[in-house]
Amino acid sequence: MGGDMTTESEIPRLIPGSGLTNYPPPDRWDDWEEWDAKAWPRRVKNRYRLVPTTCFNCESACGLLAYIDKDTGEIRRFEGNPAHPGSRGRNCAKGPATINQVNDPERILYPMRRSGPRGSGQWERVTWDEALADIGGRMGDAIREGRNDEIMYHVGRPGEDGFMDRTLKAWGVDGHNSHTNICSSGARVGYAMWSGYDRPSSDFANARFILLLSAHLETGHYFNPHAQRIIEAKRAGAKIATVDPRLSNTASMSDIWLSPWPGTEPAMLLAMARLLLEWDAVDHEFMSRWVNWEASMHARYPDRPPTYEAFVDVLREEYAGFTLEWAADECGVGADKIEAVAREIANAGERFSSHTWRSVGSGNLGGWQAARCLQFLHVLTGSVGTVGGLSPSAWDKFKPKHWNMPPPHSRWNDLLWPIEYPLSHHELSFLLPHFLKEGRGRLEVYFTRVYNPVWTNPDGFSWIEMLTDEEKVGLHVALTPTWSETAWYADYVLPMGVAAERHDTHSYETHAARWLGFRQPVLRVAGEREGRTFERTYDANPGEVWEETEFWIDLSWRVDPDGSLGIRKWFESPEDPSRPVSVDEYYGWMFDNSVPGLPDKAAAEGLTPLGYMRKYGAVEVERDIYLVNERPVEDAERGPDGLAYKDGVAVGVTIDGRVVEGFRSPSRKLEWYSSTLDEWGWHDEAIPGYLKTHVYWRDMDMGGNERILLPIFRLPTLIHTRSGNAKYLYEISHGHPLWVNPIDADALGFDTGDLVRISTDSGHFVMRAWRTEGIRPGVVAASHHLGRWRLDDERGNERWSSALVNVEQIGDGKWRLRQLKGIEPFPSDDPDSERIWWSDPGVNQNLAFPVHPDPVSGMHAWHQRVRLTAAEAGDRYGDVVVDTNKSFQVYRDWLSKTKPGPGPDGTRRPLWLDRPVKPTPDAYIYPD
Ligand code: SF4
Repeated sequence: MGGDMTTESEIPRLIPGSGLTNYPPPDRWDDWEEWDAKAWPRRVKNRYRLVPTTCFNCESACGLLAYIDKDTGEIRRFEGNPAHPGSRGRNCAKGPATINQVNDPERILYPMRRSGPRGSGQWERVTWDEALADIGGRMGDAIREGRNDEIMYHVGRPGEDGFMDRTLKAWGVDGHNSHTNICSSGARVGYAMWSGYDRPSSDFANARFILLLSAHLETGHYFNPHAQRIIEAKRAGAKIATVDPRLSNTASMSDIWLSPWPGTEPAMLLAMARLLLEWDAVDHEFMSRWVNWEASMHARYPDRPPTYEAFVDVLREEYAGFTLEWAADECGVGADKIEAVAREIANAGERFSSHTWRSVGSGNLGGWQAARCLQFLHVLTGSVGTVGGLSPSAWDKFKPKHWNMPPPHSRWNDLLWPIEYPLSHHELSFLLPHFLKEGRGRLEVYFTRVYNPVWTNPDGFSWIEMLTDEEKVGLHVALTPTWSETAWYADYVLPMGVAAERHDTHSYETHAARWLGFRQPVLRVAGEREGRTFERTYDANPGEVWEETEFWIDLSWRVDPDGSLGIRKWFESPEDPSRPVSVDEYYGWMFDNSVPGLPDKAAAEGLTPLGYMRKYGAVEVERDIYLVNERPVEDAERGPDGLAYKDGVAVGVTIDGRVVEGFRSPSRKLEWYSSTLDEWGWHDEAIPGYLKTHVYWRDMDMGGNERILLPIFRLPTLIHTRSGNAKYLYEISHGHPLWVNPIDADALGFDTGDLVRISTDSGHFVMRAWRTEGIRPGVVAASHHLGRWRLDDERGNERWSSALVNVEQIGDGKWRLRQLKGIEPFPSDDPDSERIWWSDPGVNQNLAFPVHPDPVSGMHAWHQRVRLTAAEAGDRYGDVVVDTNKSFQVYRDWLSKTKPGPGPDGTRRPLWLDRPVKPTPDAYIYPD
């Protein structure tokens, strides 16, 4: 590590000499006065209590300050929290739009139970008590009968860290299901196979060169915290290159834009690697110490000398074919651009930073190799863990201990972790309808939580078929802050709070530091400061909107009312076991006992740790974290394999005679050759390489009407399917065109606004074309955000954003969704709803995508090989027609690409690979 460093700075609060502030100082948050700008020229003073919380509108968890009117007790607006170390007082448009979600006139305010057939849209209001008794009773029966794994919790946006892990362990249920395999598993596997860490933490602010394989500035992972640091680097002279077939806003802010054929990105990255090797722009000291070259040579090149020099020769030979000329032709990108990026990487050395998320890894068969190839460039240049480089995620993420944590259970749920996908990074969540169709199991109680698989997942009609089959899904409980297409098919719709209405803790790798954020129900906190008391958060929130933390505690009591299942004890108050643990007790224990430095910071202000977190909403735990792999490990026992152990667990590795932490891979080094991939059947793929995507451009009939569809780019102002009730955001973003390059538009005869029928392998949908040079020829694109729909004019999804549609089964497995009307003004308590001027709801294209599970990562490969034709007579904008029998067949085709376990040691999955709610090792043993 060398060079100077920009340490994390706070955003200045006081503008020198002016007496003006950028942010209200925290010592005045309880009584903040400001002039009402709208009342001008009258001088009207408003008085607020400012209560911090964290945003829930993407995974970044930026800080928010709720401005609560002291006269009315209402939340007036949200602004940034300057005390939050990740976001430093800044937000994107989605943060302040939280106020729309709080005030949405159509929001779900009370628990509801269906009163007609599932999916009929008939609901009755019930009490929380009734809902808890029914759901908890069914769960208790299932657990008593040993059917624990018929209980499944399926989460979209978790927004919390550890509470559900704890809850599922307490229940003894292997039922954690996530959305990750339709989101980011591809990149995660690529990173994990190098280091054991599934995400990168980019030190953007200190980088000299930044390479982005995603639209990172506008919509990337940890979007606003990363974007502000990328721009800081740019202002300090760093250059940026963006790889994206589409001219994103990020590409437009970059010094170099590379627009390759989708899926060829690894070829381009390996051509850069080849150049670095050719130029010897390689950090040999780092490589020789930290790459598993001995194991690589032993396993793959046993006839060569087992020396580092021979290893470097091997690298040159392995990648000799990735010449500039070949890569330029393969990727469709100028050789000069590839060389220019390689030169910038070489010049930046250990201050080279990068990121890839979704994008390549989530679009392509074999897309996980893109992250592996990108990390290879860091390994070559030694920009791993350095100032301005790339660290593993966990170094910069703080996970506090949870109170009274139950031990792991020993169950294994094959519906989530099937034997065909032993290396998948997360659960095969999007295959659930197909698994149930094949008779692999059933669900007694199925929770969807901030998740909308009917709309979001590929092949949504298969989800409707599953959810409407009460044999397959006994009880569907939707925990949700907003209406969704999926909630429509629930038995219970239970309203959960938005960012200002709930407790959660979380921490993310936004920069080279660790922090903890605390989301809190701001009206409850404000009320408590005024001396009021609340039994439950729904007593303070609008209507009876609740929060999951208290819900899971109370539900667990209903599952095991007398404690005979051994579940209740994990949720009893430490002060008085005859009542449930309170949120103050729960988080109070966490802040007292497991956040280093917090008790001292709190004491310095005369506060308890909980009081400090309620006051500031976040705390920085450590800053300027680099080279954790070099940290010495004391008192470990050295093993003959070069690793160091404590209590039989590897905790370090011997490097140059010293025991240091290393990484989390099996060798605790960076694994160019992955013995895991090799031993589990993927010999050829065990080193960073280039795999042919399922949308390989040379296999397409480009002379005819085949093209590659990119369906997953995000819009910076929308939130997957949760922004439907955010009027500020929908006013900004509502159009939904198909991006078509003029070369393709001319060849296919499309003009802007023409209706195009886009056919996939399971059906088709109809959109309008938009001619733009912002997409490479041969590729078309449509954002994944739009296309919301509702089945009833007055109930279900919000009318700010959704089309009224008719969904019809028009044959065996054949479905058609047709829009009856678009977005229109409507009367409500909010006068703005009569001022709606936008009308295009977009098209729910995901319905027409069959599943494409990558056989290694389990990631759904989102990109589609499509045929583009003019809309046919009878086609209407927004039509989606799908045959679920065809989509099932595509599932079977992709299933046949897998190399099922068990592995060489008879296990279902490598024990070292992470997974949520990890069971005990004996659960990994595959039964004979
Ligand atoms: S980036 Fe925007 S949406 Fe995401 S947490 Fe921050 S303010 Fe909220």
